[in-house]
Amino acid sequence: MSKYVFITGGVTSSLGKGIIAASLAKLLQSRGFRVTIQKFDPYINVDPGTLNPYEHGECYVTNDGAETDLDLGHYERFLNTPMSQANNVTTGRIYQTVINKERAGDYLGKTVQVIPHITDEIKRRMRLQGDKGYDIIITEIGGTVGDIESLPYLESIRQLRQELSDHDTVFLHLTLIPYLSAAKELKTKPTQHSVKELLTTGIQPDVLVCRTEHPINKEIRQKLALFCNVERNSVIEAIDAESIYDVPLLMLKEGLDKIVLAKLHLKSKHEPELELWRNFLAKLKHPLHEVNIGLIGKYHELRDAYKSIYEAFVHAGAVNECHINIEAIHSESLENLDAIPERLQHLHGILIAPGFGERGIEGKYKAIEYARTQGVPFFGICLGLQSAIVEFARHVLHIRDAASTEVNPKTKNPVVDMMPEQKGITAKGGTMRLGSFACKIKKDSKVFKIYGNDLIHERHRHRWEFNNKYLEEFESHGFKSVGVNPSTKLVEIMELKSHPWFVGVQFHPELQSTVENPHPLFVSFIQAAIRFKMKEQ
Ligand code: GLN
Repeated sequence: MSKYVFITGGVTSSLGKGIIAASLAKLLQSRGFRVTIQKFDPYINVDPGTLNPYEHGECYVTNDGAETDLDLGHYERFLNTPMSQANNVTTGRIYQTVINKERAGDYLGKTVQVIPHITDEIKRRMRLQGDKGYDIIITEIGGTVGDIESLPYLESIRQLRQELSDHDTVFLHLTLIPYLSAAKELKTKPTQHSVKELLTTGIQPDVLVCRTEHPINKEIRQKLALFCNVERNSVIEAIDAESIYDVPLLMLKEGLDKIVLAKLHLKSKHEPELELWRNFLAKLKHPLHEVNIGLIGKYHELRDAYKSIYEAFVHAGAVNECHINIEAIHSESLENLDAIPERLQHLHGILIAPGFGERGIEGKYKAIEYARTQGVPFFGICLGLQSAIVEFARHVLHIRDAASTEVNPKTKNPVVDMMPEQKGITAKGGTMRLGSFACKIKKDSKVFKIYGNDLIHERHRHRWEFNNKYLEEFESHGFKSVGVNPSTKLVEIMELKSHPWFVGVQFHPELQSTVENPHPLFVSFIQAAIRFKMKEQ
């Protein structure tokens, strides 16, 4: 029988509910429990797959091909266990299910309403993970208490508490304690209002987690406990941290895991086992090396657009005891620049990011040409590999009009072309090549040494691919296909033989990098950057 922790947010958005959920889950996991996390998002899109990265940050893809909220990336990076479609549900998906059932006649004769039909579907989805044998399921409710969209979710968790047995649920409310610098005071009133708002939906929080820029003292804790009706030890400080990976240890110090276990009437199986985590943090904070990596993309205005790439660098930096300065470079800014070497010469590695459409693409080719000819470690991900293919075709194979048909549908030399099974598809939602696919690695390659394996599984999200008609020509000039999908023969990894480290991948390795399992390609790329820097000096 699973137990449930429901996390709501108050006062403002962006308080880091996902990180608190992931940190609590990590602590409970470290005490021997089987834990999973799910997120319910109150928007009407069926999934975030059709959202522009500026709207909602990166779209995180799971093994089973679900396009999900980026918080699921945090859940995987912290817990080191894969998430699935069931871990992320939106209002759109809930309504879609209910409306499909209505059309099928499942509610024949009845008026279909928010209560009970929508709330029943929400509760059914909330309990789905319960069948999978988890001890504790942490459920994050997206949005902020007071939002109209959140109401059906709050009603559902209120009902669930009634339906489950005593001590099976905990309501955790994450809130903000703002600091007024003029008054030099932390203020509790917004939290009191937020709890009051939550009470109007029939929910009394059991635990308050308080985001704050300054430590909250005993008096403030007492005041919050008194006015918000929570126990004194259940007012938890969540002070701003240097790194998101500090948060589990900060929560451990505050005793959040113990409080939650006590409320669920669960006994810890053992003391928290966090050795790997602590080692990772120690390395992260005391680097021996330092490198500059250029992250060349076009969605830099919103850092969340490349969330998993930034995090994969944190993991790879820590294992290599290397501080990584990531410079976000707009590919558009390189397009009309002649002085490319001057602009990029301080970099020890260049990563071309995933992306869609043609904006800034010429700037990517320029950066790739520089990395290829100057021996700078180069890592191309998805559109990054596709751009390297076009650059190589144009400048080495001298196919001047070589292009991806995504950028130039009329090109006579489509070195990157839409996959045949994609050609008839017009619907945009959930129709890309999505999820985990096998890839067979050639043994005489750099990536074979890096992975230490000739069969890997990586996650995809794209419509275009290398055009195998050009394979011979590419390979005879040293740009080799070294990883291939065993059933479709699609090229998944290419590397340049005459270069110290030039690797392009059609998949998204960043999605599988976790604290405890940093991704081997990122780890190796950083090693190459360190070597490049040393050679330069
Ligand atoms: N736009 C390219 C495609 O669909 C690349 C996608 C990506 O980088 N994720 O194939």
